[in-house]
Amino acid sequence: MKRFLPFLCCLLFLAGCTAPSADAEPAQVQFFSMDTVMSIRVYNEGGEDAIQAARQEVERLDKLLSRTNPDSQISLLNSHAGDGTLISLDAEVADLLSFAKSVSQLLPGCFDITIAPVMDAWGFTKEERHVPSAEALADAMSLVNSEALIVDEASSSARLEQAGMEVDLGAVAKGFAAGRADAVLREYGVTSALLDLGGNVTAIGSKLDGSAWQVAVKDPQNTSEALCVLSLEDQTASTSGGYERYFEENGQTYHHIIDPKTGYPADSGLLSVTVISSDHMLADALSTTLFVAGPEEALDFWRSRDDFELVLCTEDNRVIVTEGLEAGYRPAGEDRGYTYEIARR
Ligand code: AMP
Ligand code: MG
Repeated sequence: MKRFLPFLCCLLFLAGCTAPSADAEPAQVQFFSMDTVMSIRVYNEGGEDAIQAARQEVERLDKLLSRTNPDSQISLLNSHAGDGTLISLDAEVADLLSFAKSVSQLLPGCFDITIAPVMDAWGFTKEERHVPSAEALADAMSLVNSEALIVDEASSSARLEQAGMEVDLGAVAKGFAAGRADAVLREYGVTSALLDLGGNVTAIGSKLDGSAWQVAVKDPQNTSEALCVLSLEDQTASTSGGYERYFEENGQTYHHIIDPKTGYPADSGLLSVTVISSDHMLADALSTTLFVAGPEEALDFWRSRDDFELVLCTEDNRVIVTEGLEAGYRPAGEDRGYTYEIARR
């Protein structure tokens, strides 16, 4: 246990607690945006301005992308669903919508940003969580179809073809914001920083001594503990897990990651998925997608690509780590009953 203590401190540190770092004291800020607590820490000297600029960038994107902000571009798009109006968007919003549509095609039936009406039916949007009636769920499901989200990147515009459809970017917005905040920090000359945008931990550069960041992946069954610790440099580790938002009804637990094939919380045998990639937005989108897909499909998909690595935690207490992480990862939950295995190509 003792040898993991520094890493557990790191976990607490990233989770936003005020545990002191063993390294130099960073300039740091903690704030609430995109419906979650975020933190930015810069270890280069004089990082305060960079931090403020990165925070403003995240807050700007929240205003642009939030479907609960009536003035956002996404709300404008949603409010015109079915009336034929092509909505002019900022190029970055059109690109993000287009990217999200492309993810739906990677593993059909797992990822769909038009899932919003189903999130509403389960009461996740207004924090009135409940199991929907079969009728309400069927109505909501009839509106889920990202093929009816038409995006024209050339003219930066989009429309939703069916009345009642809505876009919800909850599965990708934080990864997108991580990419933008990363770029802003680098413009300020930052080479050593950590961002924690609610389940998306981005390591910028390395520690000041040149060694890799040590980032803990939470144990989904005990989130104050680590499942494993990863070495990261210029990468995001994005985790999706049913433990992040859920409620209980009649002894059953229902979480917020919906299987677009059923309209019910995904039940694929996974407790959490962590995607590690130098593409921050991809990491976020894939963590949600692969959580729905399940362990076998997730590993098959990983074998077909070379731009990300995975940590999968299964319901039967297996932790599957893909081979690209092998050199830099440490298991941390053997005493809690997890068995660790390396997945090979
Ligand atoms: P994440 O925490 O990145 O896995 O994103 C979860 C959020 O994405 C949820 O709170 C919903 O807003 C949205 N969401 C839920 N299920 C899906 C899905 N199958 N495809 C796309 N977005 C989803
Ligand atoms: Mg995601």
